[in-house]
Amino acid sequence: MKRKPVIAIDGPAGSGKSTIAKLVASGMGFHYIDTGAMYRAVTLKALGEGTDRKNEAALSELAGRTKIDFVYGDRLKVFLDGAEVTDEIRLPEVSKASSDIADSRGVRAALVKKQQEMGKAGGVIMDGRDIGSMVFPDAEVKIYLDASVEERAERRFKELSGKGIKTGQEQVRKDIEERDRRDRERPFGALIKMNDAVTLDTTGLTIEQVAAKISGIIKGKL
Ligand code: C5P
Repeated sequence: MKRKPVIAIDGPAGSGKSTIAKLVASGMGFHYIDTGAMYRAVTLKALGEGTDRKNEAALSELAGRTKIDFVYGDRLKVFLDGAEVTDEIRLPEVSKASSDIADSRGVRAALVKKQQEMGKAGGVIMDGRDIGSMVFPDAEVKIYLDASVEERAERRFKELSGKGIKTGQEQVRKDIEERDRRDRERPFGALIKMNDAVTLDTTGLTIEQVAAKISGIIKGKL
């Protein structure tokens, strides 16, 4: 039987991928899979165990014995080895360390395999950096979301402040620029715009406007 569609949304940090993907997925009755949360969960575990972030063998081994689950409800909950980590994985120190963890070939191989498994029946919207290039190169719809660095930093700053996480606006911008560089220069699974992806710049657009545009792109493609 033909699988249901897979919708791949890639783009840099703060481009609005997860907010939009969640909204569009619930509107379409699709499952939303936040692959960044999976890299964050492995990062949290590595930080907790004190794993050397440059030790490829140790990271591969750690990823191989990590269980990540999503529980769908009013809010998407993330579980790491059975314990809820939804909020913890958003802490700035996890965001920062996640670039090192995402560079690991072994971690990527383990997570890409899990993501392919989770999406194999289709009916999913998956967001990340390498979904349209590595995880589902045959996705029925590929979208590349972008926005200016200024706007992405502002969004991230507001999001963190809203959660009571103390940080400075300039620091958030620097962290985003550094993550952009790491995302684009990564030897495997780097962030790239695929030729068959539709690019959407969300600078200056509201969440509702972006969601409407994305829904339009998806309807036009399917
Ligand atoms: O998107 P988010 O900021 O939650 O991603 C967390 C980390 O995981 C980032 O460092 C990002 O580069 C990495 N990531 C990745 N591949 C994905 C999704 C996220 O390398 N598909």
